[in-house]
Amino acid sequence: MTDHSAFVAALRRLDAAAKLVDIPEETYVRLRHPKAVLTVSVPLRRDDGSLEMFTAHRVHHNDLRGPGKGGLRYHPDVTLDECKALAFWMTCKCAVMDLPYGGAKGGIAVDPKSLSQLELERLSRGLIRRIAEFIGPQLDIPAPDVYTNERIMGWMMDEYAHVVRRHEPAVITGKPLGLGGSQGRSDATARGGYVCIAKLAEERGWKPAETTVAIQGFGNAGQGIARLLAEDGYRIVAVSDSSGAIVSRDGFDVPSLIRAKNDTRKLEAVYCQGSVCDQVDAERISNGELLELDVDILIPAALEDVITADNAAEVQARVVLELANGPVTSDADDILDQRGITVIPDILANAGGVTVSYYEWVQNRSGDYWSAEDVRQRLEKRMAYQFDQVMRLAADNQVSLRVAAYALALQRLGEAAEAVGTRDLFNGKD
Ligand code: NAD
Repeated sequence: MTDHSAFVAALRRLDAAAKLVDIPEETYVRLRHPKAVLTVSVPLRRDDGSLEMFTAHRVHHNDLRGPGKGGLRYHPDVTLDECKALAFWMTCKCAVMDLPYGGAKGGIAVDPKSLSQLELERLSRGLIRRIAEFIGPQLDIPAPDVYTNERIMGWMMDEYAHVVRRHEPAVITGKPLGLGGSQGRSDATARGGYVCIAKLAEERGWKPAETTVAIQGFGNAGQGIARLLAEDGYRIVAVSDSSGAIVSRDGFDVPSLIRAKNDTRKLEAVYCQGSVCDQVDAERISNGELLELDVDILIPAALEDVITADNAAEVQARVVLELANGPVTSDADDILDQRGITVIPDILANAGGVTVSYYEWVQNRSGDYWSAEDVRQRLEKRMAYQFDQVMRLAADNQVSLRVAAYALALQRLGEAAEAVGTRDLFNGKD
């Protein structure tokens, strides 16, 4: 019987990586079991006085290397299984970046666009009251993810302070600057991906003006990478959001595109409500067609499972930068590999966000706040270093960047497992 669980599918990524590293088998066994899961019902008093209940989950996948770290997502499709998969990726991502964190993730099954801003605030505060004992600066530190943003993180931090009766900014990252957020957090995910592209461009001798880019998803991650690449002269020829995609062979003027998308946001709304498709004069295509465009770089920056065994053979891009978590399914990996398409895997490509979240947590705990330039330099240095580690492992072992990134994560998790004691130690063989 085929198991369609997202968590089981995510674990498949470990199989090839485990062959490359000499780690205690029990590290690998432990990763197959999330440490703890919490499911809660969050009551929401709607503006019309009615009461509605929403299901939310929070998963601690592994905390061997440090407290859990991972986003909170608001989306109708949020399930416990998806949270387990995303938490597993966080464990691996934090290990790849050598951050002192384990992996966690959570979310509410809700369509946030159907809520007023006051309802959104009540729901976010209600969630924190339900999960307050499951999170904490040394336990599990949430952050923004799909359809959550810095304002929501600010409400959550404020509610947590009410619950625990003390100021505790390090409980959550991705906060507004005025509430202890870090400089450079808002475009950190994009900047991390940008460093990966810049390193690859250097190695392959790409000229930005001759390099075309298609981006799926035009939110925090998608807009950020579009802006950074366009500033370097790359040609952003296609973008999309949940309503559809647009393409312009000459390349878009990205600042106007961002303005057009964001101007349609109602002032009182937290979310971008406009669709890029209604704002800019360009040819409309579907989100599926965007993935199959003949471009140099394809950047999925929306949701998971968009490149699958069904469409991987149609992907024309030379490089896929996984800015979203899990956009390529494990059964599409081999197809892209065989076709010579380089995939920069999510656990490396989008790790800029968690890296600056870590910097935010460090600043909150020390009370010493850094400049934007300082944050940027630290991020770029760490990304470039870990990118080189993954590239070297891949070249030495003739494996994909994904297998190499998982191998690096396993190696670091294995070191931690050995340090606390494994079968060999307790059998007196160490
Ligand atoms: P966001 O909510 O800011 O933006 C999501 C974008 O995706 C929106 O433009 C939305 O319209 C679009 N979208 C939704 N459904 C779509 C669909 N079916 N087709 C095309 N576009 C669609 O979210 P974000 O923070 O930019 O996150 C995007 C991805 O990046 C997610 O996979 C998230 O897990 C990952 N990520 C984000 C961060 C971060 O710091 N924000 C860090 C690491 C990874």
